[in-house]
Amino acid sequence: MKNVTHWIGGSPVEGSGRTSEIFNPATGEVAGQVHLASVAEVDAAVAAAVAAWPAWRDTSLVKRSQVLFRFRELMYAHRDELAALISAEHGKVHSDALGEVARGLEVVEFACGIPHLLKGGFSEGVSTRVDSYSIRQPLGVVAGITPFNFPAMVPMWMFPIAIACGNAFVLKPSEKDPSASLLMARLWKEAGLPDGVFGVVQGDKEAVDRLLEHPDVRAVSFVGSTPIARHVYETGTRHGKRVQALGGAKNHMLVLPDADLDLVADAAVSAGFGSAGERCMAISVVLAVDPVGDELVDRIVSRVSELTVGPGDDPRSEMGPLVTEAHRDKVVSYLDLGVAEGAKLVVDGRRTPVLGGAAAAETSGFWLGPTVLDHVPAGSRVHTEEIFGPVLAIVRVSCYEEGLELINSGEYGNGTAVFTNDGGAARRFQNEVEVGMIGINVPIPVPMAFYSFGGWKSSLFGDTHVHGTEGVHFYTRGKVVTSRWLDPGHGGVNLGFPTNG
Ligand code: NAD
Repeated sequence: MKNVTHWIGGSPVEGSGRTSEIFNPATGEVAGQVHLASVAEVDAAVAAAVAAWPAWRDTSLVKRSQVLFRFRELMYAHRDELAALISAEHGKVHSDALGEVARGLEVVEFACGIPHLLKGGFSEGVSTRVDSYSIRQPLGVVAGITPFNFPAMVPMWMFPIAIACGNAFVLKPSEKDPSASLLMARLWKEAGLPDGVFGVVQGDKEAVDRLLEHPDVRAVSFVGSTPIARHVYETGTRHGKRVQALGGAKNHMLVLPDADLDLVADAAVSAGFGSAGERCMAISVVLAVDPVGDELVDRIVSRVSELTVGPGDDPRSEMGPLVTEAHRDKVVSYLDLGVAEGAKLVVDGRRTPVLGGAAAAETSGFWLGPTVLDHVPAGSRVHTEEIFGPVLAIVRVSCYEEGLELINSGEYGNGTAVFTNDGGAARRFQNEVEVGMIGINVPIPVPMAFYSFGGWKSSLFGDTHVHGTEGVHFYTRGKVVTSRWLDPGHGGVNLGFPTNG
């Protein structure tokens, strides 16, 4: 049985109190336990980070960058091990877990360029013999609180940049799949990161709330569901912290009548059911503009019937189980709700065989196969609420404007996609849609590491997106220096407000 500890001051540290079970979602069996930090354990992790920070802040940019390069190489060398840990606790298939590690590593690669990213501006002669320049400095100890669905990638959206900027970082991973955090901590140590600069506190609300109140934590990055994101943003800012809190999503794909329907069907099935729909950028609603609906649903259904559902560590599996029993049950509840609301259940994932064997509903483990609900009424709960599972809702709309209005009137604004061969229509869509990340004939438009990731409306609280240059900005604060060196003509007393001249 696994025993997942904290990582404080460069070593594993056992908790002294509560624990939580870790499951194998493919079997439903308990696979181990994770310690849940008390206030004292969080304080110990923050104290270790406080102690480590000054020396790391004063470590040269080039040396910091060299540690990042070594971390990148170690993570790459251990990518299979990391993916196996993720797959065993989350349930996603191994190739998908490898994909998450690869996308996270892109942020590490971006952060390796920190000497360039932290270059300031310099203006010579802003006044007579006066120069001005800007510098950015780290904040101190910063924290990251992350969700279950990307136990390696989402932390990697945060800590490579925070650490590269010269901060110390405390990670509070999801208690559902915590093991990846400890492997990453060990690899940081092997890469030469001084003890205490990266720490991990396992835990739940108690640990999160202590981090949000702790006077030595200067900034908090959060990714998770919208109610918790709102709580983190409000509590953290009330305690004087800088906070970026990314929330939930309900991502729509708008299909215009001129789109290539094979491309659309491939994209909708891939983006709807990859990782069992447990992705914040998953497509969960297809808006089919008349008259393409019937034809598109046929093509989606024929692809769905070919998908192989099975355990994440079986190479035949294309889609794994859901993360917990409670989450699976919640997702399943939307199937009957959808029918009650007037939708037509065209593929019922409860009946999907698991690796060609018994139906999902009859197999132990947290199973639900890919599910398609057609003719979902606009504005119904199945259309508007985040389900976060393998449930694709098809909403029929009569025109572009009706589809756009449905997207813009929604609570969330994380991702969206338009499928069309009309460049003018796509350009109009990118201009008019109220969403932070947009795909044009691309179903999951997760920005590259050198751009920043973030949604609008209830998908993000705070004004700074993660990674890219916005990440560098979030983990640093600016100074502007105005400097004059004495010369023989330095003048005398002048009580007027400084103006340039
Ligand atoms: P969650 O909100 O339940 O948990 C996220 C983190 O908050 C975890 O570390 C958890 O331990 C902690 N937490 C849970 N309840 C808490 C409470 N009451 N008080 C304080 N902390 C608490 O989210 P999840 O189920 O782990 O992840 C799925 C959600 O994350 C989905 O809503 C998904 O859309 C969202 N998500 C968003 C993005 C994005 O970029 N916007 C990315 C990934 C996931």
